[in-house]
Amino acid sequence: MSEAFVSRDDIFSWGRVAREPQRVATPRFADQLTPLIDAARGSSLLAVGLRRSYGDSCLNETGDLIDMSRLDRIIAFDPLNGILRAEAGASFSEILQLIVPHGWFLPVTPGTRFVTLGGAIANDIHGKNHHAAGSFGRHVRALGLVRSDRGRSTLTPDSDPALFASTIGGLGLTGIIEWAEISLAKIDSAYLEVETLPFETLDAFWDLAEASAETFEFTIAWVDCFAHGEGLGRGIFRRANWTPYGFFDAHRDQSWPRVPFDAPDFLLSPPGIGAFNTLYYRLLAGAGTKLQHYRKFFYPLDALGDWNRLYGRNGLLQYQCVIPPAAQRDAIRDLFATIAADRQVSFLAMLKTFGDLPAPGLLSFARAGTTLALDFPNHGEKTRALLARLDAIVADAGGALYPAKDGRMTHSMFRRSFPRWHDLQRDPLMSSDFWRRVAA
Ligand SMILES: Cc1cc2nc3c(=O)[nH]c(=O)nc-3n(C[C@H](O)[C@H](O)[C@H](O)COP(=O)(O)OP(=O)(O)OC[C@H]3O[C@@H](n4cnc5c(N)ncnc54)[C@H](O)[C@@H]3O)c2cc1C
Repeated sequence: MSEAFVSRDDIFSWGRVAREPQRVATPRFADQLTPLIDAARGSSLLAVGLRRSYGDSCLNETGDLIDMSRLDRIIAFDPLNGILRAEAGASFSEILQLIVPHGWFLPVTPGTRFVTLGGAIANDIHGKNHHAAGSFGRHVRALGLVRSDRGRSTLTPDSDPALFASTIGGLGLTGIIEWAEISLAKIDSAYLEVETLPFETLDAFWDLAEASAETFEFTIAWVDCFAHGEGLGRGIFRRANWTPYGFFDAHRDQSWPRVPFDAPDFLLSPPGIGAFNTLYYRLLAGAGTKLQHYRKFFYPLDALGDWNRLYGRNGLLQYQCVIPPAAQRDAIRDLFATIAADRQVSFLAMLKTFGDLPAPGLLSFARAGTTLALDFPNHGEKTRALLARLDAIVADAGGALYPAKDGRMTHSMFRRSFPRWHDLQRDPLMSSDFWRRVAA
């Protein structure tokens, strides 16, 4: 069975910074998982999905990977009650194609539909509705787990609360998630009424976030990171609710264009990114209210395949933090001021207030406060030095970093972010590049 693992040099995470070859097996049937666990004994193992994590939490250079994306069957769907059971490699894209025509949607979705059910659980992902729905793990009713030391089991929040809490947000370290059953969210059509509101200052952002939390299911803001001085904190706030005005038409995935090469460096220079940000601000500012299909509202980046290649051959470093409510205003201002002063600019700076619904995972990232997600072209030490300065602000504020977006946080930053990390019920065989860095 060991020949099922093959060495591949085309396996990257979404940031495309780490480029080491990985040994990968791609099972098509669930009964192949136990033999693969046996074949991997002696080295370490990690199940992965579509590798939409940006850093090294979905890489395992010195061990083996199990690519779960071919274990993608829908096992059961109850369209009356909105309950879905599927293999862990099923993507959000294929799930939506099944459920939307029946009037259901995923309870929580990230900014891409190309993630798997297993990946969404193992990072306990959050979406634009965190203030209303909490994180993804809250909607998991049951899951099948295969461990190297305990074999197969079915977990529910009540059957084994400690292992369930370890597995939700558990970064694939508690075993292989074979399947999961989730509750879906009812929708009135496949369309949302989306309001776009430009804001000039961070104070205006806080006012909008507060005013929208009760009445809008989805909120998100884009901030122009290049703006400084009086323009510091200007951006575009978007808020939306599902509307009954439209059909239940699911998206299609066919024939979207792909970026065929790595972008040239000049596009990634501060003037290049600054010009993009100014243009983006002018284009969106004053756009008003419109009806949008969910594909456009939730997944605008999916329209361009491999858009991560626009960050050039050195890849990109994502940075996502959450700051607790008491410190959020000062810390978020300091983060933007530090970035603007450094003149290393982020294309996509997304700001969102999280609600206080508790996340079910021991290592869940989403928690009450405000989250800021940034992506920087990787300019090596210069970029890492800026991110270390951002770490200091986040740590002082009592905040946390998101492992799904990380390829560089120190072990002390990890421990501050997840103080209960040592209670994780790790499968002794499971490990990742991320885990060896932060927990060793
Ligand atoms: C454009 C874009 C937008 C995004 N927006 C958001 C967002 O809004 N909110 C958010 O929370 N995240 C967001 N993300 C991050 C993304 O949602 C997570 O990284 C997600 O976990 C990726 O799923 P995946 O299937 O690609 O998993 P991978 O990246 O392949 O793996 C992620 C983790 O899950 C584990 N894993 C995967 N499958 C299994 C399995 N079957 N059993 C056990 N462990 C498993 C892996 O070991 C790894 O630790 C975004 C990413 C991109 C590229």
